[in-house]
Amino acid sequence: MIQDILPHVYDNHYEEHTPDDDSYIMFVKGGRVLAEAKGEASNFPLYKDLKDYVKECVYLFSIDDKKYFLAKEYDSIPEEGYELVGLRDYYTYKEKHMAFTAVTAFQLNNWYRNNKFCGRCGKPMTRSHKERMMECRECGNTVYPKISPAVIVAVTDGDRLLMTKYNNREYKRYALIAGFSEVGETLEETVHREVMEEVGVKVKNLQYYKCQPWSFSDSLLVGFFCELDGSDKIKMDEEELSVAEWLHRDEIEMVYDGISLTNEMVIKFKENK
Ligand SMILES: [Zn+2]
Repeated sequence: MIQDILPHVYDNHYEEHTPDDDSYIMFVKGGRVLAEAKGEASNFPLYKDLKDYVKECVYLFSIDDKKYFLAKEYDSIPEEGYELVGLRDYYTYKEKHMAFTAVTAFQLNNWYRNNKFCGRCGKPMTRSHKERMMECRECGNTVYPKISPAVIVAVTDGDRLLMTKYNNREYKRYALIAGFSEVGETLEETVHREVMEEVGVKVKNLQYYKCQPWSFSDSLLVGFFCELDGSDKIKMDEEELSVAEWLHRDEIEMVYDGISLTNEMVIKFKENK
């Protein structure tokens, strides 16, 4: 999956740092992150080469012994020798940890951008020096990075898996049932509710599989396998979904992508492991 970057090691322990010569600097613009214009062999820019562009930067995380900083404020983005690369385009890069690095920087950049002012009193927020937290010195409000739990559910019935396609979304391929947890709800309750809402069936024997940070949507995806309980008759939520159907293992055509939890769960079922 995208976060499995071994042999590289991601360290998100927060401390105040200043960039050194080997530090990388992340310029995020929309859904794109700046890289060297060397195609799939490129890396992120070094701070020492682009420091004149950076008005304010903040330490993000380390990977191995390299520190990554976010260009939090900048006037312009260098054009010559660099290019803004779409988050998903990093999947094709030679260095496989770059996609994870780019999307994690993207999530933190969104969080900083969305928390410039206090939601309680409207005064500017200040960065904590001790931890990754924004605080309001006026009213004491504190804000931590947003991480929303959500479930991915593989509903099985013997050799069949319940597969769906989203309605009105760019992503047109098969997916599994998924949804965010509501306030006051356990993950297990989210599974039961989402399955009932999206396809109208009951499930039992929930088994936690794995989880995955999914920075594209500020979420932490939690994967469950479970079994059909009772009738297999699907009552599809037509606003959410365009397709919901039972597929036999042998009918599933998904190929391993090494990126998403959904993909890994479907392949695991298909291969009967
Ligand atoms: Zn405040």
